[in-house]
Amino acid sequence: MSRQHLNDAQSVQQLQAQLVHRLRAAGLDSPLPEARALLTHVLRLDWAGLVLAAERSVTPAEAEQLEGLTLRRLAREPLQHLLGRVEWGGVTLHVSPATLIPRPETEGLLALALKSLEGRAALAAPAVLDVGTGTGALALGLKAARPEAQVTASDLSPEALALAGHNAAANGLEVAFVLADLLEGVAGSFDLIVSNPPYLPDADRLEAQPEVKYDPDMALYSGPDGLKLARRLVVQAAGRLNVGGTLLLELDPRNVGLLAAEMRLANWTVQTHADLSGRERFLWASRLEW
Ligand code: GLN
Repeated sequence: MSRQHLNDAQSVQQLQAQLVHRLRAAGLDSPLPEARALLTHVLRLDWAGLVLAAERSVTPAEAEQLEGLTLRRLAREPLQHLLGRVEWGGVTLHVSPATLIPRPETEGLLALALKSLEGRAALAAPAVLDVGTGTGALALGLKAARPEAQVTASDLSPEALALAGHNAAANGLEVAFVLADLLEGVAGSFDLIVSNPPYLPDADRLEAQPEVKYDPDMALYSGPDGLKLARRLVVQAAGRLNVGGTLLLELDPRNVGLLAAEMRLANWTVQTHADLSGRERFLWASRLEW
């Protein structure tokens, strides 16, 4: 779009139509919701406000800001980075290139975590650990839904922990953050250990969607088969669960059956659970004997 074009006064509706067209032409899957999300962000409106503003003209400053974001999106920078935040699991999370963008499927892991705590109604203040918290998503989603839980969250990345701490404060939630390599450096034992660890095979990097290249590699890849960190985590977690405690993991669906089989040989009881698209992605485990 030329400068000249930018300076023409356009209505919100016209701009939206152009934007949808450009996003679609670039091969993006959801051009209309994305265009609306960018417009609500730039115009500082909610969705209803955007509908009501259809006829109003866009200021040159707004058009310019929108153009900048559009070019970044056309270069396949994730929408969430352009908006700076995501609504996830009942909390608003700021995102940055230092952390994985929380995925909708991980809300399924949050739902399982809440279910596991429901089954432990006798615990006044269950001790919960989120390993590799990233933006703080699982820890904060849990704390928001179960304020009485004592939630700890770890990450190996100081930048991620800083962002997660900011997200906790912004949501008014109290979570203890620890800089740690999985459970090494985390004190105590837990009624629930939950984790969405890096779980993709290293070779997946070669075929990653352009947007995924904006997620940090250390949040995604985990050795030749994708299980390097999950296996270490399972060994560490075995010694750190309270009696009756649960370990919940999100994994690559290609690996869920394999890790479940390995864990059964190591004295765990394991169930697997599907994500919203019906792929076995979650592993629910407890120790056979304590
Ligand atoms: N679900 C992510 C993806 O497919 C991977 C997340 C992870 O490794 N924990 O891009």
